[in-house]
Amino acid sequence: MDKNFTFTDGTSLEIGTMYCIGKNYEKHAKEMGGELPKDPVVFIKPPAAYIPDGSSVILPDFSDNVHHEVELVVVIGKDCSNIRSDQARNVIAGYAIGIDVTLRDIQQKAKEKGLPWAVAKGFVTSAPISKIIPESEFGDEIPFFDVKLEVNGDIRQNGNTKDMARPVGLLIEYLSKVFTLRTGDCIFTGTPEGVGKINSGDKLIAELSGKVKLSISVK
Ligand code: MG
Repeated sequence: MDKNFTFTDGTSLEIGTMYCIGKNYEKHAKEMGGELPKDPVVFIKPPAAYIPDGSSVILPDFSDNVHHEVELVVVIGKDCSNIRSDQARNVIAGYAIGIDVTLRDIQQKAKEKGLPWAVAKGFVTSAPISKIIPESEFGDEIPFFDVKLEVNGDIRQNGNTKDMARPVGLLIEYLSKVFTLRTGDCIFTGTPEGVGKINSGDKLIAELSGKVKLSISVK
């Protein structure tokens, strides 16, 4: 099992808590039959859910509807708390592309009953993440990124992080206040529209602004 994130410069970081943001793009909130939430929707995947580039999502036998959600992943490089959004860049170690793999049928049942999403969102192999591009490769501002996903060569999702309801800085402000953040934690920042089912044998290729790719197969 991989316990470390790998950066494109060859360095690595032990994986901490994986925070995930729900409904952070209006068009995705609508395709799920809802609106943008008033307060951030936050859930967590365990570090054991992580898989690196080149590995496989294992479809669990207790779900019949597994969905892809391609997302910008932000990796935290400092233990911190109460970070203001305009200071957030200082605690970012780097950026990656990830897939928030979701058991949509299990999540739907949990929503109906008011139960937690841990199984639907945190099962083993539910967190494929590419190599991480160091923050130092970017300028003075948190950049906007294209987030794209192809399944078997067809483009299924193609968004840009400028369309987030809550940008990266605000997410770090909120999470660092509520939980504190630690080195090696990461944030799945929400998915644009176009989520859909994946099946055994599918080949997924996610891409972050043409800078880093994530290739994942489905078993
Ligand atoms: Mg998601």
